Amino acid sequence: MNDCLFCNIIKREIPSDIVFEDEHTLAFLDINPNNLGHTLVIPKDHHENLGSTPLATLTNVMETSQKVGKAIMKGMEVEGFNVIQNNGSVAGQAIFHIHFHIIPRVSDDGLRHWPHKKYESPEEAAAVAKKITDAIS
Ligand code: AMP
Ligand code: ZN
Repeated sequence: MNDCLFCNIIKREIPSDIVFEDEHTLAFLDINPNNLGHTLVIPKDHHENLGSTPLATLTNVMETSQKVGKAIMKGMEVEGFNVIQNNGSVAGQAIFHIHFHIIPRVSDDGLRHWPHKKYESPEEAAAVAKKITDAIS
């Protein structure tokens, strides 16, 4: 057993409730769901986060996320879902094997969207946009 929980779930060394599996990806229930049916989609290859995962792998994970999202809506009879992917401890990432949370949503389910901030001026927004643009490689 290696020390990555999700690699061990892939190898069936740790039990999980598997929803879907194909050659490249696995989808299983989150053990502490935000809503019932909350599913995690992971690649079978170990990569830490969005920045370090090859695009081909992300394509596979997105394909499975789309399947699972549609199936959650149909199977759980909900009208929507969130796709969330945390990068880094500061963003709430606890397991460092990239995963996408697919969270079923129903009205009045008590899950609140994050509060919004405001730019103080158009210049501030433009300066922030420039910082990001200049860092794109
Ligand atoms: P994150 O905070 O984005 O790294 O999400 C990690 C998620 O993994 C959390 O929502 C946990 O509830 C979930 N989790 C932790 N251990 C297990 C497990 N053994 N089986 C299924 N989900 C798990
Ligand atoms: Zn892993």
